[in-house]
Amino acid sequence: MNNIPYGKQTITEEDIEAVVKTLRSDFLTQGPQVAEFEKAFAEYTGAKYAVAVSNGTAALHLCAMALNVKPGTNVITTPITFAASANCIKYCGGNIFFCDINPETFLMDTEKLKELISSKPKGFFSGIIPVDFAGLVVNLEEIKKIATANNLWIIEDACHAPGGFFTDKTGIKQQAGNSNFADLAIFSFHPVKHIATGEGGMITTNDKTLFDKLCLYRTHGITKNAELMTQNDGGWYYQMIELGYNYRMPDMLCALGISQLKRADEGLKRRREIASKYNEAFKNNPQIKIQNSDIQSGHAFHLYIIRIKNRLELYDHLKANKIFAQVHYIPVHTMPYYQNLGFKKGDFPVAEAYYEECLSLPLFPGLTNEEQKYVIETIQQFVK
Ligand SMILES: *Cc1c(COP(=O)(O)O)cnc(C)c1O
Repeated sequence: MNNIPYGKQTITEEDIEAVVKTLRSDFLTQGPQVAEFEKAFAEYTGAKYAVAVSNGTAALHLCAMALNVKPGTNVITTPITFAASANCIKYCGGNIFFCDINPETFLMDTEKLKELISSKPKGFFSGIIPVDFAGLVVNLEEIKKIATANNLWIIEDACHAPGGFFTDKTGIKQQAGNSNFADLAIFSFHPVKHIATGEGGMITTNDKTLFDKLCLYRTHGITKNAELMTQNDGGWYYQMIELGYNYRMPDMLCALGISQLKRADEGLKRRREIASKYNEAFKNNPQIKIQNSDIQSGHAFHLYIIRIKNRLELYDHLKANKIFAQVHYIPVHTMPYYQNLGFKKGDFPVAEAYYEECLSLPLFPGLTNEEQKYVIETIQQFVK
């Protein structure tokens, strides 16, 4: 048996051809593949606009800028996420607050969110960054209600959930990133994610004003739009009207993204197949707890997570058998950088208890049935 990682990209000959074709074309960056990828991705999520960027972290940073996060701006996220969900607020000088998780779904606990918001004066918070953790899409209808009551914006960190959905009160499936409830949503195309381009990211929105800002900030704050410029010296002329960044995604990677996106549904179907086999294998095991939700049907299964008391021993046992499970995540507030900002162990007990027990098992479309069977047997042999 080969080494089995927890996540891995699938690259086909078609993907390779798409990249090579772009390499032979006139544009390596700022060319037609970018807009084409954006259009296809917007369609996939159901959002009006999409902006391709250099990675998911850049996407978060641009969103924070577009929503005017600055020193003194207070924003809430979950401690069980990749650090970038919180870091983007720090890039802009804002303050991050964490809201503990629900022990069953591992998502931000909406009751605790309400408590946190009402523990501060009205107007204290500006926004919320909920995370579709592991691929389980946050009920944004519920979050939006809280946001509206408190005048907050929402950035949906949907890195784990392209193709996933939650079902709203009227029974309609709400796709991750469709921006019907969130102001902005972000995605990553890191190789372990559903759609892999190496590095890459996307922002989706239905808001034209935010869309325009994102496009401007993505490329240095430079515009050629005559309506935005204070003068125009001729065809070559442009103006830098805001301080932006170079967060562009090159055409080779957008071409790869377009090609990958065509297989997104296939990959998602396979992820769900693998997850349901794990569910079946572990559901009656008292030592193993799985992520609970009544909306599993819309789960995009970026990760398949189990909770087990002797996690370290299982991790080592799997590793000794060439299975490389992973832990998602070390609670962000316990990172030394955040501890230096005043957070400490004990602040978010549910997240910390979760961290003590969580383990992400191999889950990616290329995982064979035989490999999965081996993973399950190795775990069952351990818990016996
Ligand atoms: C991967 C990820 C990011 C960051 O994406 P990059 O493309 O690696 O910068 C942000 N948030 C979450 C939840 C992620 O999983």
